Amino acid sequence: MRYRVALAGNPNCGKTTLFNRLTGAHQAVGNWPGVTVEKKTGTIEYKGCKMELVDLPGIYSLSPYSLEEAVARDNILRGEQDAVLNIVDGANLERSLYLTLQLMELGVPLVVAVNMMDEVWARGGEIDCEKLSATLGIPVEPISARRGEGVERLLEDLSGVLCKRLASASKVVYDYNTEAALAAVLSVLAENHPHPEGRARFLGAKLLENDPSAKGYVSLSQDQKRRIAEIGARYEAGPGSGDRETMLVDARYRVIAEVARRAVKKPPEDGRVTLSERIDRVVTDRVLAFPVFFTILFLVFSAVFGPLGQGMKGSMERLAFEAAAWLSRLLALWQAPQWCFGLLLDGVVAGVGGVLAFLPQILLLFLFLSLLEDSGYMARGAFIMDRLLRRLGLSGKAFIPLLMGFGCTTPAVMAARTMENDRDRRLTILLTPFMSCSAKMPVYALFAGTFFPRWQGLAVFFLYLLGAAAAVLYGLLLRKTLFRGGNPAFVMEFPPYRLPGLKSTALRLWEKSRGFLAKAGTVIFTMSLLIWFLQNFDFHFRMVTDAAQSMFGQAGAAIAPIFAPLGFGSWQAAVSLLTGLVAKEAVVASLTALYGGGVPLQKALSGAF
Ligand code: GDP
Ligand code: MG
Repeated sequence: MRYRVALAGNPNCGKTTLFNRLTGAHQAVGNWPGVTVEKKTGTIEYKGCKMELVDLPGIYSLSPYSLEEAVARDNILRGEQDAVLNIVDGANLERSLYLTLQLMELGVPLVVAVNMMDEVWARGGEIDCEKLSATLGIPVEPISARRGEGVERLLEDLSGVLCKRLASASKVVYDYNTEAALAAVLSVLAENHPHPEGRARFLGAKLLENDPSAKGYVSLSQDQKRRIAEIGARYEAGPGSGDRETMLVDARYRVIAEVARRAVKKPPEDGRVTLSERIDRVVTDRVLAFPVFFTILFLVFSAVFGPLGQGMKGSMERLAFEAAAWLSRLLALWQAPQWCFGLLLDGVVAGVGGVLAFLPQILLLFLFLSLLEDSGYMARGAFIMDRLLRRLGLSGKAFIPLLMGFGCTTPAVMAARTMENDRDRRLTILLTPFMSCSAKMPVYALFAGTFFPRWQGLAVFFLYLLGAAAAVLYGLLLRKTLFRGGNPAFVMEFPPYRLPGLKSTALRLWEKSRGFLAKAGTVIFTMSLLIWFLQNFDFHFRMVTDAAQSMFGQAGAAIAPIFAPLGFGSWQAAVSLLTGLVAKEAVVASLTALYGGGVPLQKALSGAF
């Protein structure tokens, strides 16, 4: 029997870090809310107790605001899991416990892990988890997911709850007025469900606070609805202020305050500003924010396309050259036929090698993107860009998907799921493809290196800006036509600055290189073979000496006039453009195969102007 355990907690509390540590998985960890947008599962076994863990997107409460929050909430509410492992951010205990209380209302078997204890201790604070556990009536363990401390005890608790059936659900008692109102609602509910399961208290609370989503879980008669509305009205009239929802929220926070008062020793308040605050004073300063922001972006680009990236690319090219020389000696030794030389050297080595040469630069770009994410600067970037994005009718939150679009469009579009507002999300998804993804980078670099050998970095930077500018124009157009309407509010919390984890950065780069190598080994490899074949044979499958007579040459000549107004009417250019339909990098492979490198390419294309 394998038990299912859902990992639930606020965004950025370390769920994925713990998930990776427990399951040995390599999920992306990032220091901004919204990294995990789909649920991921992994299995573990502890002392014979088999568990399947589900890493859910972060939620602050069981009332969803964004799409990903709804994913997490639905997963928990459908009751598919046997227990919930609730991860709580020790540095933000009060806020995190709000979700814990809601999970307790739900009555699911619960184990709480208080994470980030290393940060709490480093600041001189202390959280008495035994006392927390005694007050709440459920297991609570202090852990540091990043360092792996306390994880063993956590597993002990979890397997106890699941496999030894140790009790782990208890009830939190709110103030008298709230409990009376809840009891009244529950007695109405009991008319339909004489034997309510654990969820009853949660549903009761939802009905009491008048949450529209609660109506989806129970069907009530008109009369029952009226009576519940009356109970709500009486609750509002009682002690306390605000509407029913606020009053229930207040009731929960009063319990939290009491729990925290008993168990938490706050770090001494010595009035010192933390390092995070000091950095933020500079990077979010009204005047300095933009210069700092663009300097950082510019530095990233100059590193990737400047001398550093160029040098690394040069070494890769020398490596490819060595490989080609070695291969041709080998072929000569075997007395291979002439076409074999052509196929392997001009086709495969030139094509795949031409694309592989860009691997170092792509890795460099990903290294910087992941450092920006992991350090926590990305969230500040969103804040800084908010002022600009607002003009497009977007909130600063759109910045993160847009910036990720420079890496790869697919995860960038997925990241847009964290946005609460439907209109905002769609607009962001439409604009993301304008951000030049890393597959386009080899193409940019090839042209920049050919036409602007001395100003490569600047030329590529400008191309990226051009893409962004196109996005702005398109965004303005959409805003005036299909996406009229209000400006979304920007609420995003700044995570503290953290030193990026070496392991998670290395893992991410490894995943990226693996993906790139796999693509080079499959798509680009096949494309190179195909291009070579199409370029050396005519429609009667006879080998030709003049490439213009080949299938490629003839097909290219037929479509070239379409592209002539753009300034490149040659068949080689037209055909290369089409190969980009399969993979952007293939454009580089076909251009190198058709022109054989920089100078001829420069001559051929500038002649067209
Ligand atoms: P999630 O959004 O809940 O999945 O959180 P992540 O696992 O992506 O982690 C968010 C950030 O917190 C990352 O920068 C992690 O490196 C960091 N983090 C996670 N666990 C710990 C911990 O125990 N101690 C410290 N200091 N940082 C942690
Ligand atoms: Mg996560």
